[in-house]
Amino acid sequence: MGAAKNHIGGEWVEGARNVPDLNPSNTNDVVGEFPQADAAQVEQAIAAARDAFPAWSRSSIQDRHDILKRIGDEIIARKDELGRLLSREEGKTLPEGIGETVRAGQIFQFFAGECLRLAGEKLASTRPGVEVEVTREPLGVIGLITPWNFPIAIPAWKIAPALAYGNCIVFKPAELVPATAHALSEIIVRAGLPPGVFNLVMGRGSVVGETMTRHPGITAISFTGSVPTGRRVAAACVEADPMKKVQLEMGGKNPLVVLDDADMKTAVECAVNGAFFSTGQRCTASSRLIVTAGIHDRFLEALTERTKALVVDDALKPGTQIGPVVDENQLEQDLRYVQIGKDEGARLVTGGERLNRETPGFYMAPAILADADNRMRIAREEIFGPVATVIRATDYDEALDIANDTPFGLSAGICTTSLKYASHFRRNSEAGMVMVNLPTAGVDYHVPFGGRKGSSYGPREQGRYAAEFYTTVKTAYTFDMNGPYVPRTRSSE
Ligand code: NAD
Repeated sequence: MGAAKNHIGGEWVEGARNVPDLNPSNTNDVVGEFPQADAAQVEQAIAAARDAFPAWSRSSIQDRHDILKRIGDEIIARKDELGRLLSREEGKTLPEGIGETVRAGQIFQFFAGECLRLAGEKLASTRPGVEVEVTREPLGVIGLITPWNFPIAIPAWKIAPALAYGNCIVFKPAELVPATAHALSEIIVRAGLPPGVFNLVMGRGSVVGETMTRHPGITAISFTGSVPTGRRVAAACVEADPMKKVQLEMGGKNPLVVLDDADMKTAVECAVNGAFFSTGQRCTASSRLIVTAGIHDRFLEALTERTKALVVDDALKPGTQIGPVVDENQLEQDLRYVQIGKDEGARLVTGGERLNRETPGFYMAPAILADADNRMRIAREEIFGPVATVIRATDYDEALDIANDTPFGLSAGICTTSLKYASHFRRNSEAGMVMVNLPTAGVDYHVPFGGRKGSSYGPREQGRYAAEFYTTVKTAYTFDMNGPYVPRTRSSE
């Protein structure tokens, strides 16, 4: 692949400079060279989006539907090629990369339908002769800032609703995954959008992201990423003049509770999938396994055996179950947390070390840290790697308390065959998403996604709930000066 370009005002343009994009499974493999936008280019993108907004916001819903449908259809038709690029760039396994790509296509197809379904309300007024109408309108120019761990699905679940509801976009993908963002943008641009409706500006958070959050031309920011960056983004949006609407999806420290009556096979599969698939680099990863006393030792033994058998290798190799960590910094962070856990008194049961494979990459053996206490840093801070912390609980009540005792609240799971505990957990978990006998990660695209407490801020993403963020509500009152029409009656003729 040659040097890629940013997309501003309907043109593909060079960046201020280019940087290489490396394959984490093989750092000798350069995926491509990608431009870094400077602040001036971000300002041009914002200006182009503002110019395009009046016409796009009034465009026909049939046109918008057709464009989004074309985007979704092309993504799905090219799932193998795009999924391979994603896995090569980010390091999740090829089946995971293809699966994520299909998901992105489905999201565009779903929002194609939503273009036709945006509804308002008509109500009676408390005042005679007055009618009240509540409608939803587009916001304006929306800045989309995304993380590296879902390089196509997260951009899709922000771009699709933003366009569906008539907004213009400035899209800033994460620095580590420009190739997937570029490939997605080519598809979006080709689908028939007027120039300026969709703009791609790749580059650093401190330059591109900061300019977007501070610029008065952007009406709203949808951000997914870490808590510290999210706080900065929110603060900048509030300090900006005018203030911006902001939506933040951030980290997690998601509990998976395993009760004495759990089906062992289900519990082990949920734990392995939730903790280690996608190399543990999911905001919904099960990083705390809270296990009641009666099953604890048997579960830990079965989990350890299953974890040791996981194949860690090149993301593109057939048979690989766990790909590499995304980069050297993240790998160092993961290894550092394993050491922190040991220093805090947790017991490293398996994994936790760097692995060498045929090609130079960021491979790590999935780690299980047992005998942990929920007050330890490994139980409180997001690690974002293949590291599972196992915490023993005496019974369900204590397990629920531990599950909720966290600054985060994205996803929570329970493995049990008891309807009584499953129902109680669904109602009393302090997370935005609750899973029963399912991994904490892995969600549908037509229902809301998001968390509580430190994990999320602002309205939910995905499904029809996305309209809460991507539209603004207008309440219109109409008084008919002539009063209600009174039909003539036969007697008055
Ligand atoms: P990050 O916070 O480092 O970066 C996210 C994005 O913000 C990137 O595009 C980055 O360039 C940009 N950015 C950095 N500094 C900025 C600034 N000052 N102003 C504006 N933008 C700036 O996160 P990451 O390492 O890319 O992703 C991992 C994190 O994302 C984890 O914490 C994970 O839990 C979270 N995540 C959350 C969800 C969710 O939906 N809750 C989903 C996926 C990932």
